[in-house]
Amino acid sequence: MYRIGIDLGGTNIAAGIVNDNFEIICKASIPTGADRPATEIAADMAALCREVCLEKGISINEIANIGVATPGIANSPAGTVEYSCNLPFRKFPLAKVIADDLGIPAERVKLANDANAAAWGEAVAGAAKGTTDSIMVTLGTGVGGGIIINNKILVGFNSAAGEIGHIVIEQDGALCGCGRRGCWEAYSSATALTAMTREKMEELKLKGIPSALIWVALVVGIYAYLTSKTRMGRYLYAVGGNEKATKLSGIDTRKVYFFAYTNMGFLAALAGILTIARMASAQPTYGDSYEMDAISSCFIGGASAYGGIGTVPGVIIGAVLMGVINLGMSIMGIDQNFQKVVKGLVLLAAVIFDVMSKKNDSR
Ligand SMILES: [Zn+2]
Repeated sequence: MYRIGIDLGGTNIAAGIVNDNFEIICKASIPTGADRPATEIAADMAALCREVCLEKGISINEIANIGVATPGIANSPAGTVEYSCNLPFRKFPLAKVIADDLGIPAERVKLANDANAAAWGEAVAGAAKGTTDSIMVTLGTGVGGGIIINNKILVGFNSAAGEIGHIVIEQDGALCGCGRRGCWEAYSSATALTAMTREKMEELKLKGIPSALIWVALVVGIYAYLTSKTRMGRYLYAVGGNEKATKLSGIDTRKVYFFAYTNMGFLAALAGILTIARMASAQPTYGDSYEMDAISSCFIGGASAYGGIGTVPGVIIGAVLMGVINLGMSIMGIDQNFQKVVKGLVLLAAVIFDVMSKKNDSR
């Protein structure tokens, strides 16, 4: 014995044949064309039934029942769609029209609200199989639901028992499509989630430049000036290039080292504060494994292991490159351990380049 199930949606009409074990053995779908008259949509639904039967070589008379799931208010005993917001059905005898089109008795076509039908489907052949009571929650354009109690669909007054999306969860809350405020649907439907995300994004856009970027610009500006335009900055390069020669020329290299290390400590602390500010929570281990990124940024930015060269803007370019590599690998879902291998290879390549160019210089 075979049965056909039809899902009438705002976008597509889908139909499938199930066997005795409620396994789908054949299915097909076509666009709904919701702006057409109800009779045309009904004719398409009947045509889809014929199509799936033809594909499986089953005669329409071998079909025990046809179940139709429709959005909106479905009057199951009468076989009519009383009302649907997105489709042109107003007190439309859908079950009878489909049955007449296929030339079968009208009582063989049954009709139900789509969320109720989905709940029944799950109870009979899906996630709630083997239970007597279950609730199905559908998340989509709205929040819908179907309630099964004692192996029966709970229909309720005006067939609205399963309309759980319109339970008010926040008094005077967000406006819902139904006209009331604070419905569950106004917070949890796909439509509401998209709208809320967009709202938050607009909010962030208004705030403008992220503060971390301002800090980076500030630090780069100050230290680019310090290292290239001040006497102490030039001493740093001199000590890096040739410490002995610097000492012999009368510069107190201990002071230069002191200056370098205190500034390193200060910048590391600043980086730590900025990192924690971005995370909005603190952990003593947040800075772990950043050293590899920091060293790589310096080498890629043109600093040398032999000292004496490299610029602050260069290091920022290196850091941006490392950031792109990090983010890119995370987006691609590359394994954490393998990410470290790639970063190690980048660092190795930068060091090899450094050594090779030094060799060429000294020649
Ligand atoms: Zn509502």
